[in-house]
Amino acid sequence: MGFLAYAATDIGKPLESFEYDPGQLGLDEVEIDVDYCGLCHSDLSMVDNDWGMSRYPLVPGHEVVGRVAALGEQVKHLKLGQKVGLGWRARSCMVCDQCMTGNHHRCPQGVDTIVGRNGGFANKVRCQGAWAIPIPETVDFAKAGPLFCGGLTVFNPLILSHLSPMGHVAVVGIGGLGHMALKFAKAWGCEVTAFSTSPDKEAEAKSMGAHHFLNSRDEEALASAAGKFDMVLVTVNVMLDWDAYVNLLKPGGRLHIVGAISKFEATWFPVIGGERTIGGSPIGSPALANQMLDFSGRHEIAPKVEEFPMSKINDALEHLKSGKARYRIVLKNDF
Ligand SMILES: [Zn+2]
Ligand SMILES: [Zn+2]
Repeated sequence: MGFLAYAATDIGKPLESFEYDPGQLGLDEVEIDVDYCGLCHSDLSMVDNDWGMSRYPLVPGHEVVGRVAALGEQVKHLKLGQKVGLGWRARSCMVCDQCMTGNHHRCPQGVDTIVGRNGGFANKVRCQGAWAIPIPETVDFAKAGPLFCGGLTVFNPLILSHLSPMGHVAVVGIGGLGHMALKFAKAWGCEVTAFSTSPDKEAEAKSMGAHHFLNSRDEEALASAAGKFDMVLVTVNVMLDWDAYVNLLKPGGRLHIVGAISKFEATWFPVIGGERTIGGSPIGSPALANQMLDFSGRHEIAPKVEEFPMSKINDALEHLKSGKARYRIVLKNDF
């Protein structure tokens, strides 16, 4: 029998039942029985072909947690039945300079889970063994899916920026990514300020680790926070008044953008004068995913999720589109 999945047959179409033959399992591949799969904005972007790289029928789903169902001959580090997660990336070449220095997520030959291949809104999914990340018992299995995409995405900047536990961090946008960033930065030891355009999120942001809350539509409040932050982590994908956000940084501070904005424009003088940096990052390597899971387990960090049965995938997509998801959606396999 083939794999049972949900696929979009064309741009923007609702998902429908889809069965496909996965072919023979590759020597370096793992087959995963899907238990849960997170629903991420990137799934929506792929269904809608926002990035011009979608191929139909398209099976989305790149925040998989499940158990190892089959192992290719070369995969020695995992066991049948072991709990694993699979995120945005499903394969890297293993021999380029990026892979050889532990930066597999930067591999130019990398293959992404739902780009030109079938993802995790299915009863089974496959990936290269190295990208099936073991899930420790300390991590809440049912909620772990979003850690493999959004979680890793907001954890990586803490490492890349060499953020000190004494640091002051602003998290801009308290949604699917931002709420996990609050939890990580708080557990890291930092003083954390949540920036949101929704004042009604203040109490919840504080319960998730924010020491302070700032309404980012309030220009005066923004101006009065000038020079306070070692890192400003932007998780939204909208254009902001970038000069105002550079202005929030201490000298030496870093404006780090993980939201997929299309353009960045700012006055460069404060960047040069204050030795500030502006950067971005995608997900992270398998090794960093291991560290992120270990850290999450130790600090009891889990995304806040709403669960839908996988058969209600189109309802879940509508809920995501409406902007009402609090804060991540996880689909439970009910095939
Ligand atoms: Zn994602
Ligand atoms: Zn490579």
